[in-house]
Amino acid sequence: MTIKNTARCLLLATARRSFLATARRSFLATAQRFLLATARRSLLATARCLCLVTLAANLRSAAAVEPGPDTNLDAPPPGAFTIVVIPDTQSYVGRGTKRTPEATEPVHNDYFANHTQWIVDNLERQRIVFVSHVGDIVEDDVDQEWKVARDCLDRLHGKVPYGLTVGNHDMDGDGDSSRFQKYFPAERFREFPWYGGCFEPARPEPTVSGNNADSFQLFSVDGFDFVFLHLECNAPDDVLAWADGVLEKHSDRRAIVTTHMDLGPIEQPKKGRDFYDFPKGKMRWTKIHGSRGNNAVQMWDKCFRKHPNLLAICSGDQSRSTTWYEKNTGDAGNIVHEMLSDYGSKGPLRLLRFVPKADEIQVITYDTMLRTLTETHKNAPERERHQFKLAHPMKSG
Ligand SMILES: [Zn+2]
Repeated sequence: MTIKNTARCLLLATARRSFLATARRSFLATAQRFLLATARRSLLATARCLCLVTLAANLRSAAAVEPGPDTNLDAPPPGAFTIVVIPDTQSYVGRGTKRTPEATEPVHNDYFANHTQWIVDNLERQRIVFVSHVGDIVEDDVDQEWKVARDCLDRLHGKVPYGLTVGNHDMDGDGDSSRFQKYFPAERFREFPWYGGCFEPARPEPTVSGNNADSFQLFSVDGFDFVFLHLECNAPDDVLAWADGVLEKHSDRRAIVTTHMDLGPIEQPKKGRDFYDFPKGKMRWTKIHGSRGNNAVQMWDKCFRKHPNLLAICSGDQSRSTTWYEKNTGDAGNIVHEMLSDYGSKGPLRLLRFVPKADEIQVITYDTMLRTLTETHKNAPERERHQFKLAHPMKSG
């Protein structure tokens, strides 16, 4: 019995040791896991904090940058000049806006304000000769946003020629752009020699397509003469006929068109993913003007392709495509560079830097908030979709 008892005691002791050891190991493993998880969470939180602090510091430093030329972007070579394209500017925040419905501060748009201030500060350094807005100037077609838009664009007024495109957000579904016309009527521009004029509809409702909703501008630099057309989203036939006349009358000038919808998903997306996944190119669908609205393919066929002087078409509207480029050829064999830039209303401007000596246009996408070149984007990771060069013969004058 004694031997049996001793053996049982030994067995029990061994079992207890084993149990205790297992429990200790288990406890230690749990504790270790807990400590590691806590440490990881803490590290992540710290890293996130640091990122936010860095971002905030960047934004603060961008906002705090003294007005004046931005030396982060190299100046163009001698003889070069720049046309700036402002992508969609729908990022309005403040009281009553869609983005911040709970906000109590007045409506504002820091990105838009920063863009126009940057342009003014860099007119000389970048030799900016013209500014074009691709449309969707506002998010909601309401006075509070239009007032802010006008404040932003007032910075350019009288300092550099500019033109505005009416996007789908800048009018109602039938094409009524009366609020745009209230804030940016033809009278606002008539004093400037570069203002060419606007389409005047012979229709019963002048609030559709009238009073500067479709306009053109004329400017010259170093013996290069330009005509710049701004056509509303899905411009109807009578607008395109007028555009034909403008381009023909000024066939001795290099022509550029900005219109709101040109490149994006070719077919109309049915669901969210389609905006990313559908093949991209000239869009075959419209948003505005009902059955009289022309899609990008129709605008090309009815008007653009016929004009030998046309060299580029700029557009916006498609933030989920963000940036897209297509080279087209007009009926006369002229190369037409088509460029979409819609960076979701945040950050970058497009600069078209004409370099006559190199017979090229350098397309530069530049973030005026962070003051850096835009090299990538979640929808367009490749650098060459943001920074690229186009061949354009200029030496012959
Ligand atoms: Zn749009």
